[in-house]
Amino acid sequence: MPNSPVELYIRREDLIHPFVSGNKFRKLKYNLIQAKNENKTTLVTFGGAFSNHIAAVAYAGKENGFETIGIIRGDELQSKTQKNPTLQFANDCGMEFEFVTRESYKNKENNVDFSNKYGDCYLIPEGGTNELAVMGCEEILNESDNRYDYICCAVGTGGTISGIINSAGSHQKIIGFPALKGDFLQKEIYKFAKKNNWELNTEYDFGGYAKVTPQLIEFINNFYRENAIPLDPIYTGKTVFGVMDLASKGYFPENAKILVIHTGGLQGIKGMNMKLKNKGLSLIDYDI
Ligand SMILES: *Cc1c(COP(=O)(O)O)cnc(C)c1O
Repeated sequence: MPNSPVELYIRREDLIHPFVSGNKFRKLKYNLIQAKNENKTTLVTFGGAFSNHIAAVAYAGKENGFETIGIIRGDELQSKTQKNPTLQFANDCGMEFEFVTRESYKNKENNVDFSNKYGDCYLIPEGGTNELAVMGCEEILNESDNRYDYICCAVGTGGTISGIINSAGSHQKIIGFPALKGDFLQKEIYKFAKKNNWELNTEYDFGGYAKVTPQLIEFINNFYRENAIPLDPIYTGKTVFGVMDLASKGYFPENAKILVIHTGGLQGIKGMNMKLKNKGLSLIDYDI
C-alpha cells in the first residue's frame, strides 16, 4: 500500500531541563512564581509511584528553595521506597511522602484531612494541571511553528495540550493521544482550551495508563536505534507510535508537516524496566 509522504518533526522538550522533565517544567514555571508571591515555603502535590510529576516537583522544589511533600497513591509502597527509582530520586531531593490508600487518594480533592494538614502549603494538583500550568504550556510553541499543519502530543490530565491549543494557529490541527482511558479528558480540555481545532485519538493507549505491550517496547527500541531519540513508554512512545501508524495508513494529507512534542518522561524508564524484568519481558535498551 503506498503511503503518502509526510514530514515528521520532533520538538525535544525532553532536553529543556536535566531533571524536570519536558512539560512538567512548563507546568511548574508559573506555579513556582505564584508560590513565591504567596510566601509559601512548602509545595504539596499528589502522584503515583512512578510519576514524572512527583519527580519534577521534588527537584524543582529543591532548586527553588521549597520544602516538598508528595502524597503517594498506594499505602503498600511505604516500605518499598528504596526499590522505586522515582520515589528514591524524589526522596534524595528532600521530598517527604505521605502514603495513602487508593481509596483516600481517589477522594483527595475533597479530603478534609489533607486540607487541614496542608492548608498553609502551596497545593499543586495531580499531574500539575491548573490555569498557571496551561499558561506555561502556551510557551511550548513559538511563532515560527505556524508552518506546521499538525501538532501532536501525549495527554495525561490535559494541561499540556490545552496550552498548545491556545498558542497554536487556527489553521493548525492539534491531535492529542491520551495515555490513559477516561471520558473526563475532553471536558478537562474544554475547561482550559480556547479553540476547537483539536481532537483526541484514543486508539493508542495500549491498554491504559502505564500499560505496555512487547510491540510498543520493540517500537521504542527501534526508534532509538534509527533516530537516536529516546522515547518514554508511558506517554511519548505511544504518541509517536500513533502518529507513525496514522501516517502509514494515509491519515495525513500528502506532504503534511507534523510536529510531535516530546514531552519528556524519560525518568520513568528505570521503573518500567524493573516491571518488565519481573515479568520476564524484553526491556527498553537505554536508560537515560
Ligand atoms: C505528565 C506527562 C504528560 C501529560 O501531560 P498532561 O498535561 O497531564 O496532559 C505527557 N507526557 C509526559 C512525558 C508527561 O510526563
